Amino acid sequence: SYRKGGYHAVRIGDQFARGRYIAQKKLGWGQFSTVWLAYDTQSSKYVALKIQKSAAQFAQAAIHEIEVLSAISDGDPSNSRCVVRLIDQFKHAGPNGQHLCMVLEFLGDSLLRLIKYNRYKGLELSKVREICRCILMGLDYLHRELGIIHSDLKPENILLATTIDPAKDPLRSGARPILERPEGNPYTGVTMSIIEKKLKRRARRAAAKISETRSSMGGAIPKPGKSMEGINLQCKIVDFGNACWADKPFAEEIQTRQYRAPEVILQSRYASSVDMWSFACIAFELATGDMMLTPKEGQGFSEDEDHLALMMELLGKIPRKIATGGARSKDFFDKYGDLKRIRRLKFRPLDQLLVDKYKFNEDDARQFAEFLVPLLDFAPEKRPTAQQCLQHPWLTMRKSPAQIETSKASDIRKVETGVRNLEIKVGK
Ligand code: ADP
Ligand code: MG
Repeated sequence: SYRKGGYHAVRIGDQFARGRYIAQKKLGWGQFSTVWLAYDTQSSKYVALKIQKSAAQFAQAAIHEIEVLSAISDGDPSNSRCVVRLIDQFKHAGPNGQHLCMVLEFLGDSLLRLIKYNRYKGLELSKVREICRCILMGLDYLHRELGIIHSDLKPENILLATTIDPAKDPLRSGARPILERPEGNPYTGVTMSIIEKKLKRRARRAAAKISETRSSMGGAIPKPGKSMEGINLQCKIVDFGNACWADKPFAEEIQTRQYRAPEVILQSRYASSVDMWSFACIAFELATGDMMLTPKEGQGFSEDEDHLALMMELLGKIPRKIATGGARSKDFFDKYGDLKRIRRLKFRPLDQLLVDKYKFNEDDARQFAEFLVPLLDFAPEKRPTAQQCLQHPWLTMRKSPAQIETSKASDIRKVETGVRNLEIKVGK
């Protein structure tokens, strides 16, 4: 991809925008771009530099992304709405063509890294709540105030405000910014350069030093998989490459597979409630360490059909009107609203799954399911909005026993009727 129309190869110490930004190290990449840590010599701060591939379709996508990011930043002068901030933008001419570049505030690790760091065991529910609150505040801002649908919400696209490991945070590691191109500095991204290896070694040494000092202070830095006391879990929504205005959705197939809402698969109309579906998938993943739905193509059925089957096994049958109402419904459902090729479903409601597979206690499982299940309604217009979600007892609760008792009673009834109805249908 490092050729005409493709990525721009960057070396550590490379300058951008007439010397204002200096490349420090690669942070990540996506289909369309590479993202670098850069030092902003004007503000003396670190920033994230997103360098788009140069071909026309990528440039067009970047123009759109910049438009969305500008609206986000303009509407949030205090930068407090849990969405990444665009600081600057410019064009950069390289051997592979013109690259549009976005300068973003520098953020830390993604929620995916946090889940991995926790060894896929799931985070404590109090941490899940904290993160959920942040994501919802971001979504409320995007949906209600700006009319923007993110359309690709997933753990990779939510970044913590800081790195999990302080040694990897240029602000906390104490390393000085690189201002000049080091000697013998080949392009990175193709293979890891000597310089990068050296920097990694330096970072590791700094990490060892910090944990030494910290352990003499009582071990404030958690080891992977251990408790995460003290990590402040502020986060922000990033990657607006697929975002759209709610009043003019343009793409038919949106969202990453595992986080995709049923109306997208069926090709019915979609709205900002598709983000609420993805949000519920993320909350589940944070709490359990597993993706909620992982569809696979099988003998005689497609990945889409498996996806719909998995949804129904967890959430109950899709109402016939919804199942048969999409442009692609006929590919999957007969006129009765039953799947054509997957005939036997094994129903297991969400709260039961949390108890059986993830060893939640019954109270936690019921309360968490009560929070998630409405977000996973097959009727998109019935899903709560981000604003409504922020008022939900699961997010606002401090565990007072009385509160738990009252919510329990109404919960049991709701869930049980759901299950029985399903079993009658299966039995037929
Ligand atoms: P793409 O649209 O190509 O997927 P993203 O905007 O998702 O690009 O960025 C790709 C990766 O770069 C992210 O997953 C993340 O690891 C890193 N990244 C993006 N923005 C930032 C940022 N503001 N701060 C730190 N890292 C970032
Ligand atoms: Mg991305």
